[in-house]
Amino acid sequence: MGNEPHVVILGAGFAGVAAMKMLRKAPVRVTVINKNDYQAFQPLLYQVATDVLSANEIGFPVRQMLHGHRAWAFHQAAVTGIDLGKRQVTVEGMEPISYDYLVIALGAVVNYFGTKGAAEHAFPLYTLADAERLKTHVLEGLEAVDKNPALIDDGALRFCVVGGGPTGVEIAGAMAELLDTELKQDYPNLPLDKAEIHLYEAGPQLLGPFKPGLRDYAKRALENLGVRVHLGVGVVAVESNRVHLKSGEMIKAHTLVWGAGLQANPLVSSLGIDLVKGRVPVNPDLSLKDHPEVFAAGDVAIVTEPKTSRPLPQLGSVAKQAGEHVGRTIAGLLRGKGRIPFRYRDRGTMATIGRGAAVAELPAGFTLTGPIAWMGWLLVHLVLLSGSIERSLTLRDWAWNILTRRRSKRIVVDVSRR
Ligand SMILES: Cc1cc2nc3c(=O)[nH]c(=O)nc-3n(C[C@H](O)[C@H](O)[C@H](O)COP(=O)(O)OP(=O)(O)OC[C@H]3O[C@@H](n4cnc5c(N)ncnc54)[C@H](O)[C@@H]3O)c2cc1C
Repeated sequence: MGNEPHVVILGAGFAGVAAMKMLRKAPVRVTVINKNDYQAFQPLLYQVATDVLSANEIGFPVRQMLHGHRAWAFHQAAVTGIDLGKRQVTVEGMEPISYDYLVIALGAVVNYFGTKGAAEHAFPLYTLADAERLKTHVLEGLEAVDKNPALIDDGALRFCVVGGGPTGVEIAGAMAELLDTELKQDYPNLPLDKAEIHLYEAGPQLLGPFKPGLRDYAKRALENLGVRVHLGVGVVAVESNRVHLKSGEMIKAHTLVWGAGLQANPLVSSLGIDLVKGRVPVNPDLSLKDHPEVFAAGDVAIVTEPKTSRPLPQLGSVAKQAGEHVGRTIAGLLRGKGRIPFRYRDRGTMATIGRGAAVAELPAGFTLTGPIAWMGWLLVHLVLLSGSIERSLTLRDWAWNILTRRRSKRIVVDVSRR
């Protein structure tokens, strides 16, 4: 077994995990390296941030997923560099790791577009830690107002969201629902009716890539939940309790959620290849030019759809299918099979806007809104989650909690030493 080819997978997100699963029975040694010991299901991060689900319901342990594999190693560590010439990966706290095949599936990171103070004071929503941080901040903010109601005039009950894409729309809707649930029972003396949620989008509309009818629906659905939508309004600077708009206006707010943008994992700049929009360009089989033993999949890669000549979106479904393709290709190569181009099976693009409301654009050009679109979202994400009973249970719990307006047990555990 020791002489078997060594496949190193960087990142255990949608793409890395999918590649890993396809290599389960292949005659290879697999080493997976991921910063955390779990895969986070990002589409439900905002449910953790708004307390509908707990963190362990959307984090799946990587070591457990590897149990059925023939020969595997997992390291919870940060990858620090990739040397394509030496066929080696450098990892924090470890000797360099050599590979025969490499899968780069390191995902994306938040992009603040240089907005002053955003890295220090905004709350991004890209990792499980981000979701927990946001939830704790909101709950601690309510406790602070409970002790000192004067904070309301300073913006403690004003929640701002930047970005009118799916992330911004989903978190704004979820926050509106959080403030309208049993929080009112938990804080009977707080004037939660005075709480405001503002969504700022620099462009002229919400959900830019969606069809106009869906964009209008999303705006109406958010406004029905009480969210104030500001289109064509850019945020230029953030402080811990102030948001500065491009118009020069200053908003008093203690919370600004950043849902405005992503960039590919900056680590790929160490590859020494020409990146496209910061992402790794790939051959039709998802391998790198001049490096047939190296593959890139998921948010980190830029894959052009042959029919439209446009890049595929940075979505979990694209990442999962690309990861499966890479794993299948490596397993096939070892059995003497050839390489085939990656084809994405589009299941549609969707966004939810609170309980029972969603927009969906299906591959055939159909569009859906309302509860039917929401059910469609649920089905598509069931497929994304598929793979173990616990994953399906997560979605069942989520749907149940949403339908019954139940929240997880709301406590804040302070883990700082003091
Ligand atoms: C809030 C939110 C909601 C979303 N909703 C949807 C949705 O409804 N439907 C949908 O299809 N998609 C959705 N997406 C997009 C989807 O989650 C991503 O496209 C998908 O996660 C990309 O998969 P990936 O494997 O490329 O990257 P990821 O899933 O991000 O995985 C990358 C992995 O690499 C690890 N990593 C990064 N850097 C290092 C390093 N230096 N060393 C070691 N490990 C590292 C990370 O910890 C992570 O585990 C959403 C994303 C967000 C943020």
